[in-house]
Amino acid sequence: MRAKTKLIHAGIVGDKATGAVSTPIYQVSTYKQDAVGKFKGYEYSRTGNPTRHALEVFIRDLEGGAAGFAFASGMAATSSIMMLFSKGDHVIITDDVYGGTFRVITKVLNRFGIDATFVDSSNISHVENAILDNTKAIFLETPTNPLLKITDIEAIAKLAKAKGLLTIVDNTFMTPYFQQPIALGADIVVHSATKYLGGHSDVVAGLVVVNSEQLAEDLHFVQNSVGAVLGPQDAWLLMRGMKTLGLRMEEHHTNAQRIAAFLNNHHAVQKVYYPGLSDHPGHELMKKQTTGYGGMISFDVGSESKADELLAKLRYFTLAESLGAVESLISVPARMTHASIPRERRLELGITDGLVRISVGIEDVEDLLEDLTDALA
Ligand SMILES: *Cc1c(COP(=O)(O)O)cnc(C)c1O
Repeated sequence: MRAKTKLIHAGIVGDKATGAVSTPIYQVSTYKQDAVGKFKGYEYSRTGNPTRHALEVFIRDLEGGAAGFAFASGMAATSSIMMLFSKGDHVIITDDVYGGTFRVITKVLNRFGIDATFVDSSNISHVENAILDNTKAIFLETPTNPLLKITDIEAIAKLAKAKGLLTIVDNTFMTPYFQQPIALGADIVVHSATKYLGGHSDVVAGLVVVNSEQLAEDLHFVQNSVGAVLGPQDAWLLMRGMKTLGLRMEEHHTNAQRIAAFLNNHHAVQKVYYPGLSDHPGHELMKKQTTGYGGMISFDVGSESKADELLAKLRYFTLAESLGAVESLISVPARMTHASIPRERRLELGITDGLVRISVGIEDVEDLLEDLTDALA
């Protein structure tokens, strides 16, 4: 089955009981038992709900794993994965990982004795050198935000396997449509489904896929114990969005290619970060491990005031956090998503005051290009 067909036919399609073509919203907390312990697969909706289950099977099939899990947010998903570990365990994490992931690991999980080292995972020797006796996993994000650094998933997974570590990949930016971490050797894939999977800026959700029955059992135990599950309405809405993931990702990708090339040739733009550009340091690796470059672009206009001027003039790019939706969004990492990082550290990382990040939407690219042309003039 090819990728776009899979998006329509994978998972549990429709409803066996009624023939409904779309999965119904099972708005229910508990289920009648015929006798004690005799039930039809569901006993309580924290443990399992048919609408959530349909979504979980859907993402499992899209990522090609052993089991899927739906959580109340991307952070609930990542936190639940981290609860597979115990006091005294250590994990290695991509240094410019999503800010919320950095926060939960350094401000919450550290209090429970889970230790972490943040390294530039685009350089495998940095990862290798960070492995300690108590290391249990390598957590990657690729591409990263906002500088779109690329990590070689296959090479890291190979290293991890040789050392008996789990490889976890945050696949939010690429989605299974463009990048399949499990096929590249990863053990766990996590998503903020709030972004491209949902795709319409209308639902907050997290998804996880694991590659073994043991991990499935362990993560279901955490999910049911901690209880950060996705409700049936949101599970349904997410599936509705995911059906068009292929069409949307193709459009995000095509529009972003045009816009990145335009920005790259514009005199008012100092630097463009987009892995689809041939001079991007991760370009060759992206060609090998993904089937598209995605819709995220960062570029430097030189100063805070120039960034503000741009924001004021743009008509079709909405100033907002988040990404991956049908509408084009723009943000200034230094004053928004990465404001908590001290300025010196930010500059070291390349997150300058004039850096802006766009999530290219699926509007007509000619309108987006005209808008940028006018705003940059
Ligand atoms: C948004 C995001 C998250 C967190 O997801 P929420 O759904 O907001 O909790 C995690 N990773 C990446 C890469 C993200 O962009």
